[in-house]
Amino acid sequence: MPEITQTMLEDALAYGRAFTSQGKTAQYIPYLRQVDRDLLGVSVQTVDGRRFSAGDSKTPFTVQSIAKVVALALALQDRGEKNLFSGRVGLEPTGDPFNSIIRLEVDRKPYNPFINAGAIAVVGAIKGRSGSEKFERLLRYFKKLCGSETVSLCGEAYLSERETGDKNRALAYHLKATKMLEGDVGEDLDVYFRMCSLYVTAEDIAHLALVLANRGLDPATGERLMAAEHARIIRTLMLTCGMYDGSGEFAVKVGYPAKSGVGGGIAATLVDRMGIGVFGPALDVRGNSVAGIAILEYLSKAMDVRLF
Ligand code: GLU
Repeated sequence: MPEITQTMLEDALAYGRAFTSQGKTAQYIPYLRQVDRDLLGVSVQTVDGRRFSAGDSKTPFTVQSIAKVVALALALQDRGEKNLFSGRVGLEPTGDPFNSIIRLEVDRKPYNPFINAGAIAVVGAIKGRSGSEKFERLLRYFKKLCGSETVSLCGEAYLSERETGDKNRALAYHLKATKMLEGDVGEDLDVYFRMCSLYVTAEDIAHLALVLANRGLDPATGERLMAAEHARIIRTLMLTCGMYDGSGEFAVKVGYPAKSGVGGGIAATLVDRMGIGVFGPALDVRGNSVAGIAILEYLSKAMDVRLF
């Protein structure tokens, strides 16, 4: 298998650049609408300590749905696998858009932790006496997983999320009405809006992906940040549900686990090898970074790492 090199990463970035004009920034959140769609960055961190970056790898962007990975890891720690997946959220892909409400009426339990309904249920499962305590715990954990103290709330994105979050409110109140959410829905929603509005960089999410690739152990500090079994569950869900209703196509084209967000980030993980973070805010119709996918596809071919 060819090794990753700085030249390979720069070639991947150059390849990805041709794709930014094919997408649009997320239009439904005013803050995201005005982000420059031509930004593009990529970062790789390997389990044996090598780091490579190219392009806008230090430019902050909002993490959006990639936060669902962190929330899931914390909820798994707090409640355990059995409690979380038997009562609160499922393990099945939907093929529906990420904010769809359609299946909740028939099945009550959200299908998986990476659709919005599932992520809100996961936030409900995080321990804390108040929304702010939950959020503080989540933020602390976020910083550890990203190996960065600079992860912080983007106030403007948060207000924008809150202002335009009625679909998410509908999902959350539906979950409450069917007893799938038991705490204060307003506070859980606020935690959800905040976690989506955290500022990260491609380097930060590469580190998050690296910890997942290294089975929960941060190779930079030697600290265990999640159980190996939880890392395995999360990587599996990333493969089946991480790229919204484009997960099947992504698995065929790119072939390793990844989680995207509508801020344009993708965290991709190659078990026992490396974490990759990409950032390119121009999205395809499903909400995935167009150039980000192109970069990951380029790298997966260049390194010959498709799982199947
Ligand atoms: N904050 C976004 C929402 O809830 C996150 C969606 C995403 O990245 O998929 O609509």
